[in-house]
Amino acid sequence: MVMGELVQECEVVVIGSGPGGYAAAFRAADLGMDVTLVDTAEGPGGVCLFRGCIPSKTYLHLSELLHDAAGAKEMGISFGRPEIDIAGVRRWKQTVVEKLAGGLVQLAEQRGVQRLRGRAEFVSAGEIRIQGSDISGIRFKRAVIATGSRPIALPETRFEKGGRIMSSTAALALADIPGRLLVVGGGYVGLEIGMIYAALGSDIHLVEMGDRLLPGIDPDLVAPLARRLDKAFTAIHLNTRVEGVQARDAGVDVAFSGDGADAGGAFDRVLVAIGRAPNTRGLGLEHTRVKTDDRGFIIVDDRQRTDDENIFAVGDVTGGMMLAHKASREGKIAAEVMAGEPSAFDAAAIPAVVYTDPQIAYCGLTETAAARENRAVEVQRFPWKYSGRALTMGAGEGMTKMIVDSASQRILGVGIVGRGAEGLISEGVLAVEMGAVVQDVAFTIHPHPTLSETESETAEIFLGSALHVPPRKK
Ligand code: FAD
Repeated sequence: MVMGELVQECEVVVIGSGPGGYAAAFRAADLGMDVTLVDTAEGPGGVCLFRGCIPSKTYLHLSELLHDAAGAKEMGISFGRPEIDIAGVRRWKQTVVEKLAGGLVQLAEQRGVQRLRGRAEFVSAGEIRIQGSDISGIRFKRAVIATGSRPIALPETRFEKGGRIMSSTAALALADIPGRLLVVGGGYVGLEIGMIYAALGSDIHLVEMGDRLLPGIDPDLVAPLARRLDKAFTAIHLNTRVEGVQARDAGVDVAFSGDGADAGGAFDRVLVAIGRAPNTRGLGLEHTRVKTDDRGFIIVDDRQRTDDENIFAVGDVTGGMMLAHKASREGKIAAEVMAGEPSAFDAAAIPAVVYTDPQIAYCGLTETAAARENRAVEVQRFPWKYSGRALTMGAGEGMTKMIVDSASQRILGVGIVGRGAEGLISEGVLAVEMGAVVQDVAFTIHPHPTLSETESETAEIFLGSALHVPPRKK
């Protein structure tokens, strides 16, 4: 030990305490390992808890409330004009985040997981240095890298604290309600945050480089949402690229090229939601045998092992679907593999949810991918206008679809657009994981009236007759 330095020994060190890191740490502790969890942030939770999933879903719940209150007029109930107390909204979000963060701290304590605050960097394949902590270093037997990802900025711009050009982090801090907000990027983050600000009263102008919103999701699932967004947003410009951004004291001037070239001008704020990059820089990976791909993501095998035998990696930093539940599953696998268990990441379906209103959720094979891969599949759709429960909620615009192997009738993929899709998709995930055939879902009694019946009725269509769908013409 060097004078003035305190270096600890531990069995497992986990760097980063987001959903991937804390899952790895908690599972490793449950399996009897001595674990230290290091993060630059004060509390565990990562991007998901402090500036991702939870803040965005808290605000989206409020925007849904506003939308429902406005829509209730048609159902015979009128509310007055909503008064929005932005400080109150921020406080409510903070209450939710703090409750969950406190819970994670307790769970770490109950498991005996040591938490350290500081920036970790490998100095060798068996030791990290920690900047900003009383413990200056840790010698470990095994390490898990779970350092996550950060938002990508537009070329020649930077995200500055308090600046008008915002990442999702700044947008979710909700500094104010801008008059004109430009959203750059038609992926789920841009749409979710755009919808929040639209509900709060901003004029949303969205530009997307591609020819449609939410590329990667089947167009028929996106269509009902696109119709809603056409009303909720002031303008949506597809095939449009941002060419220049000039921040001034009073606003931001933005120039576009492509279909929306004429739509440039001044905006009060700009949200840049064009993707995320892995946090691998400054980690000292050059002192290990860990390899990254050409975009900086850490390369792992199906057991979350890197090229360095004692170092694992999980979550966003490994690329793929950058979602909390995928990170969390990978964290558990890393811990189980360290404990000698035969675990591997072999999920048949990772669900994805877009929490807009209507929501979109899907898992497994998409119709688009099936066509691209020339797979022999049959696809059936159940429009929610035939669902009693959907109509009681004024949610008849929704749709449930299944992608099924033509020969075996095995369910390969499920897609849902509509209210509550976030919960409904789990039946689809289970069906794909269990190798269920359409009969399994069709013959399972679903409670009435529920939106879950849209799944059993979709399965019934494959069998030739669904109770609430008009029969096919003979
Ligand atoms: P992270 O959550 O990114 O955590 C990484 C942690 O590592 C951070 O706490 C960071 O401080 C720490 N760290 C980094 N470098 C170091 C270092 N050198 N030393 C010490 N600590 C370090 N996913 C969903 O599944 N559902 C959603 O609804 C959803 N909504 C989202 C909304 C937004 C706006 C955003 C931005 C993301 C959303 N995500 C959502 C994605 C989700 O947040 C991430 O997939 C998830 O947080 C990844 O977890 P992780 O453990 O890999 O890393």
